[in-house]
Amino acid sequence: MKATVFGTGYVGLVQGTILADAGHEVVCVDVDADKLAQLEQGIIPIYEPGLEALVKANLAAGRLCFTTDAALGVAHGEVQFIAVGTPPDEDGSADLQYVLKVAQTIAEHMSAPRIIVNKSTVPVGTADRVGQCVGEVLAKRGRDDLTFDVVSNPEFLKEGSAVADCQKPDRIIIGTENPESVEVLRELYAPFNRNHEKMIVMDVRSAELTKYAANCMLATKISFMNEMANLAERLGADIEAVRQGIGADPRIGYHFIYPGVGYGGSCFPKDVQALIRTAEEIDFDARVLKAVEARNAQQKTTLFHKIQRHFRGELSGKTFALWGLAFKPNTDDMREAPSRVLMEALWQAGARVQAYDPEAMEEAQRLYGSRDDLALCGTKEAALRGADALVIVTEWKSFRAPDFALIAQQLSEPVIFDGRNLYSPERMAIKGFTYYSVGRQATL
Ligand code: NAD
Repeated sequence: MKATVFGTGYVGLVQGTILADAGHEVVCVDVDADKLAQLEQGIIPIYEPGLEALVKANLAAGRLCFTTDAALGVAHGEVQFIAVGTPPDEDGSADLQYVLKVAQTIAEHMSAPRIIVNKSTVPVGTADRVGQCVGEVLAKRGRDDLTFDVVSNPEFLKEGSAVADCQKPDRIIIGTENPESVEVLRELYAPFNRNHEKMIVMDVRSAELTKYAANCMLATKISFMNEMANLAERLGADIEAVRQGIGADPRIGYHFIYPGVGYGGSCFPKDVQALIRTAEEIDFDARVLKAVEARNAQQKTTLFHKIQRHFRGELSGKTFALWGLAFKPNTDDMREAPSRVLMEALWQAGARVQAYDPEAMEEAQRLYGSRDDLALCGTKEAALRGADALVIVTEWKSFRAPDFALIAQQLSEPVIFDGRNLYSPERMAIKGFTYYSVGRQATL
């Protein structure tokens, strides 16, 4: 089948590539010519395991191509995916300008029926707006004879395992009332829907809300566990024991109940905010979501407060080794990352940061390269040199079993602030570290 994907970010690039890999002919359209020039040479602008090899193989096989030529894209695919960004507006609601621009572009160039499939995360009612926009442009062109359907097909991939998530999706949500669109999409997704039925067909508005509900539920789990961690710390309990204790209940389960330093990334923060705004627009007070957001904002400051207390507020002139800049492991994405809140607070207090991340160094350079109170280090060991303490923000695998003797030797004082509970407090005490973690008692 022929499909066109507008937007070659995390979602569009991965989805377009795995569709091509399954045998479909895919044209990816973007407005960023530099990015496309790189992609055409097989250079991937994001870190996503497995993606580079797939892009190269499908480019070589001629099933995948990249273009800025929207007309070519619209002419190509019976199915037109919209996978552009929906960043937060100033008030936190989703900014739909990129989605609506693509809708307009499709309508301007359409000369045959099209199924417009929205993969971007968009508020309930967006499919209607897209449909209205396409209808208006077609009417202006005198082409209201052309039929189209706007389908909601939200994406659930996770950065860091995006390829695997798209190849083996948990579910494929299709929001439309049009049975013909369902059949076309069933055929398109058939390679990913072989072993058992993953397609869940529903009305458009429910599909749009499903995406927000999923992300808000996950964000709620994180904020809930962080709230429990705060309580555990103050009540003399150990959140790791509590986590195991509650996870054993199959109604709760072990997934996604890790305490930490708050959620970040391009999705949870913006999607929680956007659903709060959607609720406000219909005069509904989304109390749970507001609390989730407030707990998260507070949790991002928790390491800084621990550092401040340990050094009795005297941070000026101190140097901190920081392990982990990305908002989670296996990505280079630093959007809304807890590391940024921490670094900015440390700088504000007059401290220096020596940072290392296995993948996000280029991104950190782009964001903060001009600062002289930040040193970006080539290895995690280099970041330790002469620092006053080690602070761990992201749970990369390579941080789990470090050389503790070396850490103690390199730091001016053996102190670790661990935002991800990577180590056992008992073992850290034996090794002679002062060790702060989340939801557990500090070893002093
Ligand atoms: P992104 O910012 O990484 O990429 C968006 C791309 O769209 C950019 O390359 C941009 O140049 C391009 N673009 C903008 N306007 C365009 C136009 N008119 N025509 C063609 N291309 C255009 O975004 P992303 O992370 O891929 O997210 C896309 C959407 O998917 C968002 O709504 C997001 O919430 C949602 N989503 C993201 C993830 C994720 O993990 N990143 C997961 C699920 C859903």
